[in-house]
Amino acid sequence: MPPWLKQGLAGACESVPPQWFLGRGYRTNHGFIRDAQWWSAERARAYQSGRLGKILRHAYCQTEFYRRMFDALGFQPNGDCSMEDLRRLPLIDKHVVINNLDDMCSRGYFSRGVDYGTTAGTSGMPLQFYINADRSAVEYSHLVVSWERIGYKLGVPMAVLRGRVVPPDRHGLRHQYDPVFRHHYYSSFHMSDDDMARYLAHMATIGPCFLHVYPSSVAAFARFVRRSGHPAPGNIQGIIAESEIVYPEQRRMVEETFGCRCFSCYGHSEKLVLAVECEQSTDYHVWPTYGCCELLDDDGRPITTPGQRGEIVGTGFINTVMPFVRYRTGDYATYVGSRCEACGREHVVLRDIQGHRTQEMLIAADGSGIPWTALNMHDDTFLHVRQFQFFQDTPGKAVLRIVPAAQFGAGDAERIQRNLHPKLEDRLTFTIQLVETILLPARGKAIYVDQRIPPGDRNEVTPGRR
Ligand SMILES: [Zn+2]
Repeated sequence: MPPWLKQGLAGACESVPPQWFLGRGYRTNHGFIRDAQWWSAERARAYQSGRLGKILRHAYCQTEFYRRMFDALGFQPNGDCSMEDLRRLPLIDKHVVINNLDDMCSRGYFSRGVDYGTTAGTSGMPLQFYINADRSAVEYSHLVVSWERIGYKLGVPMAVLRGRVVPPDRHGLRHQYDPVFRHHYYSSFHMSDDDMARYLAHMATIGPCFLHVYPSSVAAFARFVRRSGHPAPGNIQGIIAESEIVYPEQRRMVEETFGCRCFSCYGHSEKLVLAVECEQSTDYHVWPTYGCCELLDDDGRPITTPGQRGEIVGTGFINTVMPFVRYRTGDYATYVGSRCEACGREHVVLRDIQGHRTQEMLIAADGSGIPWTALNMHDDTFLHVRQFQFFQDTPGKAVLRIVPAAQFGAGDAERIQRNLHPKLEDRLTFTIQLVETILLPARGKAIYVDQRIPPGDRNEVTPGRR
């Protein structure tokens, strides 16, 4: 529905439950997933074997890449497929996807049913992939059921600061309202003290609500409330913080400041693994109905000892356009167990997830922070770019270092400037510098922003282990 029509119909939209707009696919999925979270481990395993068999059969029959791979191994995906069967297959990583993009795509998909996605992922290299356009019913029901653990209900207003470009309204406030989902959008690119004061004052007027934010954005709000004495709105029921790592000390500060639970989810654009907290625990519970999650040590062996760390490897059930089988995410976690003692859910439980979702910041001219996560472009912006990194030593100015792909031309530099401009406006300007290589730090450390501005010169100081 176009925004002007939504606005015009705001009153009518608000009287209709959002479930109705999401359609029957969503409603069926929501009920199924709400029940499935309480399945026994045995039942979840049986379900996963069925889904694994299905996606592997599909990959074999529909893609050149997996057909070649399975044939070479003599692997026949007939019927159900256990984890042991799956482990006969090799791991794939981002390089494999980049080099086999066309062969990994299923035959017979027309562009109408397919979305193009890119994600920054590990090591500063953009990854392109294709995904089903109809994935959202399954995905969104998993998210809503997860958020329900801290009291969220579809239709409760949500204050959203997650990288959307929000133009000023007629009062100069960067706010947009979606009456269908009762979402209030604010600009995560405009976070000066004055902006934050206005957002908080507005949030206080929207009734009982939840915040849906990047951890770095809500931490900026909490620090602002603490240093300015501006009251924290009393109507915020819970905070859903996603897309970046949540640091424990940040969580404590945010929960103390806003007086409610800060709830975190782990997932990625490729839709392979979704792991979320529960009512009582801040450990990540892996959804067995979303994809297949393996935690592997450096030699590729499954980790089963609590306390050991390993890499998260995912096989997704949602994406049939371009199946990802045993994909190395580049994210690492500690294995806690196969059941959460606090809530009783028989899910694989992970802790201390670290990887490429480190909070990285550019510093605007006024000293406020711009989260890198908000700038991460999920479109063709970095199409012909092999690797990139911002370098910054002056507030408001940065250099975007780019390792170009062979096809990179003047049009690409223009497109990058044009696509990033609405998000940065006059807060930060950057020049593009083509380079041959970008040296990367140890895994889990900042890779998108080589930040040289001393913390004392920033209003935003990212706390924790940097
Ligand atoms: Zn639990």
